[in-house]
Amino acid sequence: MLDQALLEGTSKSAAEQQPVSEVIQLGSFVYGTWHSSHEDARTVVHAISNEPIYTVSSHGIDMQQVVEYAKQNGAILANWTFHQRANALKQIAQHLLEHKEDFYQLAYATGATRKDAWIDIEGGIQTLFAYSSLVRRELNDEKIITEDSWIQLSKNGTFGAKHILSPKSGVAVHINAFNFPIWGMLEKIAPTLLAGVPCIVKPATDGAQLTQAVVKAIEDTQLLPKGSLQLICGQIDDLFDYLGPQDSVTFTGSAYTGQKLRNHPHLNKYSIPFSMEADSVNSAILSPEADEATVDLFIREVFREMTTKAGQKCTAIRRAFVPQAQLEQVQQKLIAKLEKVIVGDPQKQDTTMGALASPKQKLDVENKVAELAKDAKIVFGGTTNFKFNAATPENGAFFPPTLLLCEQPLQATHVHTTEAFGPVCTLMPYQSIDELADLVARGEGSLVASVVKNSHENIEQIIQKIAPWHGRVHILDEESAKESTGHGSPLPHLIHGGPGRAGGGEELGGIRAVKHYMQRTAIQGSPNSLTQVTHSWTAGSNIKQDRVHPFKKDFDELVIGERLLTARRTVTEADIVNFACLSGDYFYAHTDKIAAADSFFGERVAHGYFIVSAAAGLFVDAAQGPVIANYGMDNLRFVEPVKIGDSIRVELTCKQKTPKPQKDLSQPAHGVVVWDIKVKNQRGELVATYDILTLVARAA
Ligand code: NAP
Repeated sequence: MLDQALLEGTSKSAAEQQPVSEVIQLGSFVYGTWHSSHEDARTVVHAISNEPIYTVSSHGIDMQQVVEYAKQNGAILANWTFHQRANALKQIAQHLLEHKEDFYQLAYATGATRKDAWIDIEGGIQTLFAYSSLVRRELNDEKIITEDSWIQLSKNGTFGAKHILSPKSGVAVHINAFNFPIWGMLEKIAPTLLAGVPCIVKPATDGAQLTQAVVKAIEDTQLLPKGSLQLICGQIDDLFDYLGPQDSVTFTGSAYTGQKLRNHPHLNKYSIPFSMEADSVNSAILSPEADEATVDLFIREVFREMTTKAGQKCTAIRRAFVPQAQLEQVQQKLIAKLEKVIVGDPQKQDTTMGALASPKQKLDVENKVAELAKDAKIVFGGTTNFKFNAATPENGAFFPPTLLLCEQPLQATHVHTTEAFGPVCTLMPYQSIDELADLVARGEGSLVASVVKNSHENIEQIIQKIAPWHGRVHILDEESAKESTGHGSPLPHLIHGGPGRAGGGEELGGIRAVKHYMQRTAIQGSPNSLTQVTHSWTAGSNIKQDRVHPFKKDFDELVIGERLLTARRTVTEADIVNFACLSGDYFYAHTDKIAAADSFFGERVAHGYFIVSAAAGLFVDAAQGPVIANYGMDNLRFVEPVKIGDSIRVELTCKQKTPKPQKDLSQPAHGVVVWDIKVKNQRGELVATYDILTLVARAA
């Protein structure tokens, strides 16, 4: 029984509500309010009982107002810094985790077992956490991303450029498939919101109650500026007509729908980016020399991909390629495992595979299996009598795990191009690596392929041939098997998407996904203009020198461009010998007069690390002060050698400041200061350059 108020979006939490028996209207969240209608409603049924559970209608929603509401209020989010957005996302993820049982309760209605629902619910929430920490770690606490330090475009350095990325001032429309109603939304809105762009989410009608429950829970937190997240359950009608040049669309679903939507004239007119994730006929490959243990690994992976979420995963293995000699063995072993699968009601304890999401999906899978059977024979499952573990098996959208065998894959077409979105896979033999590569390519582009091999077997040739046809390739062997995240798991740090049939889109992939919602602009100008725009000191822009050492100043007193020019130090032979003794680094270029004379440098030179250490000796203020710690070094380059008798001095310039949130009140409040370091010789030539990062206490 589902919770009406939760689904209509009027409750505080699912657990607090009383169940009701009538079919309910699923609410949309648009222009700051919950909207539902019974007009033109579509009814969604329970995957196990086939009873109506809710209706969906977007009738009466003013799509123009939805778009305008997002754009009018979107500026608030864009005005937050990356870390503000990331902190809000982390708190939202924590809130969702606290309410996860509400979502599990709803997930059974989609036919998912608890294990299946985990991928959607907790996998989705973990994606929010991962993106939040990625942004806090990798991006400065700014509103824009600066990509380059300085591209000099003139002889004297008064004119140059940097590329910046700023949030688009539009809205991102995210249209999702039915199979991951929570993860599918969260993996898209995380990078969008972090980029500072508001979202309109349109879930598939099947499974929309889960998306809606999560949107409701996010809304309850009141952590996002209004207009950041709107939800349309039902049809989007003329929504695309109101999109403009700053907007973007992402789509996950069937190629048929995706291609139709992509051809919308309005998207074409305004060059609106349309990122598509569609049908994908993914492969698993058993390597040519696979031993017994490797065959077992292969079977385990194919079996898992067939049965998890009843095969309703865009990444699931649809084609399993096996060397001809091992075909019979693989088929028998796989069937032996499939025979043990208990398909049925996910709430029954002994069920190991749940149902498809709806009777409509069941019909679709039946039709697709019939298509595949034109090229292949069904060797397990199909529409044969299969016993389902449910009170009324005839009502559920159950489908048995189904294995087909295509013995002549070079003569076949359907097995390479038809995706049965259920627990269905086709086994095929291959004779050579060239033939394998040809067969894999007949999928016309996929999300992922797994190559299962012996630990020491070299499969470089296979990878080179199949990589261009995939967004991700997973190599599995005994060495990685224990810790592998598996064939089917898209990860926040890695690209999810694939060429051709798979849609040509790219999602996730770390910070790349955030940049997808931002505009890259080359900003040209003087160093001072670029320092102003990027809040990061640019070589050649104004500096400020003070009689007070910068290490005596707290975080808030320091200004960008503040510089210390140190005393000089002449490097002696004793320095080099002492440093060699201290470090144990007796490399010939520093210590062997004869070998050094024959070397690239023509004589002995100082160790690069001595220069870095000597530089610290020149710029550090030794007394206790606001600098808490040296926290790292970036971009180190040794540009020119330092020879015996050369004199070095250091320019230390305050480059960037990032305040840090105070997590532990017993520690002093502080921020990170990035210092630009330039070490120069007596001729003013640059010998070493790098950034150092220090933690500096804030004003009391
Ligand atoms: P679908 O029928 O194409 O629907 C996808 C989404 O598009 C749903 O939200 C659907 O809403 C919406 N939609 C349909 N017609 C529309 C229209 N005229 N205007 C605007 N929106 C429209 O696909 P599905 O059945 O949900 O999902 C199954 C397919 O998705 C499979 O083929 C699978 O391969 C693919 N998939 C791909 C990935 C991936 O990452 N590559 C992931 C998951 C699924 P309604 O439900 O309200 O019609």
